[in-house]
Amino acid sequence: MAIATTNPATGEIVREFDSLTEDQVDEALDRAVSGFASYRTTSFEQRATWLRATADLLEAEADGVAAMMTEEMGKTLASAKAETLKCAKGFRYYADHGAAMLADEQADAEAVGASRAYMRYQPLGVVLAIMPWNFPLWQAVRFAAPALMAGNVGILKHASNVPQSALYLEDVLHRAGFPESCFQTLLIGSGMIESILRDPRVAAATLTGSEPAGRSVAAIAGDEVKHTVLELGGSDPFIVMPSADIAAAAKTAVTARVQNNGQSCIAAKRFIIHADVYDQFVDHFTEGFRGLVIGDPTDDATDVGPLATEQGRTDLEELVDDAVGKGAKVLIGGSRVERPGWFYQPTILADITDDMEIYSAEAFGPVAALYRVEDIDEAIAIANDTTFGLGGNAWTTDEAEQDQFIDRIESGQVFINGMTTSYPELGFGGIKRSGNGRELTSHGIHEFCNIKTVWIA
Ligand code: NDP
Repeated sequence: MAIATTNPATGEIVREFDSLTEDQVDEALDRAVSGFASYRTTSFEQRATWLRATADLLEAEADGVAAMMTEEMGKTLASAKAETLKCAKGFRYYADHGAAMLADEQADAEAVGASRAYMRYQPLGVVLAIMPWNFPLWQAVRFAAPALMAGNVGILKHASNVPQSALYLEDVLHRAGFPESCFQTLLIGSGMIESILRDPRVAAATLTGSEPAGRSVAAIAGDEVKHTVLELGGSDPFIVMPSADIAAAAKTAVTARVQNNGQSCIAAKRFIIHADVYDQFVDHFTEGFRGLVIGDPTDDATDVGPLATEQGRTDLEELVDDAVGKGAKVLIGGSRVERPGWFYQPTILADITDDMEIYSAEAFGPVAALYRVEDIDEAIAIANDTTFGLGGNAWTTDEAEQDQFIDRIESGQVFINGMTTSYPELGFGGIKRSGNGRELTSHGIHEFCNIKTVWIA
């Protein structure tokens, strides 16, 4: 894949970039290793100061950063600005809380026959981050903020269609004061990942993206016995039970499905509705979709812009066509929008059966799959009948039902009467083929730490 900014709203190539050579990558790794030797000795206070300075710059530059992301991958300007401000919040969160999360953790010294015993959190070293285009800054910041606070140094291989966002993140961190060796963007294709990952100078890796990419990186890292965090796809259920506020559930369901033009790992993708409220929900849901404004993502009135890549639209089209060919009913949408760029109509499909690809695949675009169920057991059975396990949403005011959903949905996160969202204050990650490890909170910062046990007689 060429490393280039191509505007998804027009299909025009805006800017192309050369890939780094192998020698340039080698130099970058040398820089990272020597940088780590001094960076790891900096104080928490110093790192927090640089994190806060990064947040300040992001806030000051939010309009320009948003325009850049919109041009690179087609999200609406409003959501791109919100993403930029969320990144600032993420940096501040680790600036404020990182030192406490990384403080020595005292153990019961007497129980282990010591005068003192504790766990110390030390950085691992050079961490490779392989990131996707759908949240060009936030995905990378979820890694960078905790990793830098912990004293690691990062090398970023971003998706080939968001090179300007990748270069911006490197630049803003340097302008905020971080030494240049602390965080480097490598403009390279994924073909160079294996040799970097196998390089002894690289200690660990994190990847957010598709299952095939995750599997490949995990296999190489496993072979090298290196730690990875994987945040892969999802096909989150959105379950609605009779006690729920149906209008509110349907309104949130629309946002949960079409946010980021439908391209979010934690977007709700399968809408599992109790038969007693199915018709009512579908009316509200379809109405909500009908009201969506599709168009130029730089226009304030636009709700849904283009898909980020032509391939992404083709994949989505194939999923819908396959389902319709096997008997799914199109309640709204169902085809591409005939205009330049990679637009696809927000679409709702009913009568989904398990022989359709959309039953098991991740629909990475504004396409909702509807299921009608008779009771909570059937709802949970369908929710869990997937290889994914990232997020889950359930709407009910019945506390016993809420407990059942919390307990029985197989996922890394469950949101009741709301939609799955990432917050620095909450852990983020999945189970099953949605990946492993956790981002954000103290769990995220500890992922790239050597948790060293210390025992003193
Ligand atoms: P990919 O997984 O292909 O890309 C994500 C990142 O991984 C990019 O930096 C990419 O680089 C890199 N990459 C790709 N293949 C490999 C590999 N074999 N080894 C190492 N790195 C690799 O996602 P796509 O953009 O192709 O999207 C495909 C599907 O992935 C989507 O339809 C969706 O289902 C899922 N996805 C999930 C995301 C999430 O948030 N969990 C985000 C994006 C996609 P390069 O761009 O150079 O190929």
